[in-house]
Amino acid sequence: MSGVDVLVVGAGPAGWAAAAACAREELQVRLLAPRPHAPWHQAYGAWVDELSVVAAADVTRQQWDTVRVRTVGPGFRTLPRTYCLIDNELLRASLGTKAATTTVMTGRARSVEGAGDHLCVHTTDGAQLRARAVIDATGHPAAFGAPAPSPPAYQTAYGLVARLSAPPIPTGTMCLMDFDSTPFEEVEPATFLYAMDLGAGRWFVEETALAARPAVPLRTLRQRLEQRLAHRGVRCTEVIAKERCAFAMDAPLPRVGAAVAFGAAAAMVHPATGYQVAEALRRAPALAASLRQALDDHRDPSDIARAAHRAVWPAEALRQDTLYRLGLEVLLGLDAPATRAFFDGFFALPLDDWRGYVSRTSSTLALQRTMLRLIRRVPQHLRRRVLRIAMSPGALRTLSGVVAPTRLTR
Ligand SMILES: Cc1cc2nc3c(=O)[nH]c(=O)nc-3n(C[C@H](O)[C@H](O)[C@H](O)COP(=O)(O)OP(=O)(O)OC[C@H]3O[C@@H](n4cnc5c(N)ncnc54)[C@H](O)[C@@H]3O)c2cc1C
Repeated sequence: MSGVDVLVVGAGPAGWAAAAACAREELQVRLLAPRPHAPWHQAYGAWVDELSVVAAADVTRQQWDTVRVRTVGPGFRTLPRTYCLIDNELLRASLGTKAATTTVMTGRARSVEGAGDHLCVHTTDGAQLRARAVIDATGHPAAFGAPAPSPPAYQTAYGLVARLSAPPIPTGTMCLMDFDSTPFEEVEPATFLYAMDLGAGRWFVEETALAARPAVPLRTLRQRLEQRLAHRGVRCTEVIAKERCAFAMDAPLPRVGAAVAFGAAAAMVHPATGYQVAEALRRAPALAASLRQALDDHRDPSDIARAAHRAVWPAEALRQDTLYRLGLEVLLGLDAPATRAFFDGFFALPLDDWRGYVSRTSSTLALQRTMLRLIRRVPQHLRRRVLRIAMSPGALRTLSGVVAPTRLTR
């Protein structure tokens, strides 16, 4: 089959975002996935200000002007920042329209290899697809990536879209993290309720283990969700949909290979929050621009992949990622009461600090300041524990990446 400029492998949010951005650069794009038009079933949430590259109002199902969190004690804290539930069909349609010139193909990629001035992707049904550049947007673990050296930390969650006998949180609100521990005294690790009033009597309720190594099993989360709702006198009267969630939080950074990884395949899931969709939308234009430039310069495929990789993971983003991975190690080292106290301190930080941390908008220096501010803010016993974890050999190994980020991308 004749070659194109770019072959995008994978049809999740990252694959379609990459295809749309490449089409905008007037590149010839082909997109390959086993079910390229299959609906995305995940309930994708995001902060509205992170969706500036798409018109947020056009791709969201519902927005909440403020967000609640409950960490320690009975009261909620209200965060002044708008949160949304993405309407997957609208987002896909919006990206599909932008990627209208893309040729969409059904198939599963098996391998990629150099073929002179092109790359050749072999599919499981024997097809060979040629392109000057290949984007691996196949999620984690990436189709063309190396296996992870050690088992990653996992975010797991069990959720329901349901009708309930009573509101689990105040009507009309959404709650990002409800750590109310009363139904689970002494239970490890800490998990929280992520909940949204979807209107018309429907709720989204999800018990979430932010990060654990090994993963918290989904059956444990289902039991905890039932317990939590029962403790509030809430019964489920109709289950409309179930969400079973498990994904790696600290997948290894991609190596520069023939294909350039993007999205969850490129470890773009935020290691301390688990969010990725908005980040894929944000980084796709830089990826596409670097491909346009490299193709115009008639570079060879390995040079093109290297330039594109640098656009996806510039040095500053690598430094920030290292700090996030350190933050993840701290979280993994805390027991349930300490986790709740930690988030209590985190959401008491000034808005710019915690927003910059969760949305990757702070510089490395600003992130370091935020982390120090947080350490100063938490109770003394917790401060000592956090510092002990942050100074452990494993954490220091992680932190050395801030100084030498290129070591991480060999
Ligand atoms: C249940 C759940 C809820 C989540 N909620 C959120 C959230 O609220 N907000 C957020 O920002 N993030 C969330 N995430 C994290 C992350 O953003 C998602 O995992 C997201 O789907 C990753 O997007 P992606 O396009 O990189 O990969 P995926 O969505 O995993 O898409 C991978 C694509 O590649 C295709 N593919 C795989 N192998 C091959 C192959 N060999 N050849 C061709 N195609 C292949 C697949 O069929 C699929 O089309 C959630 C994750 C899960 C699992």
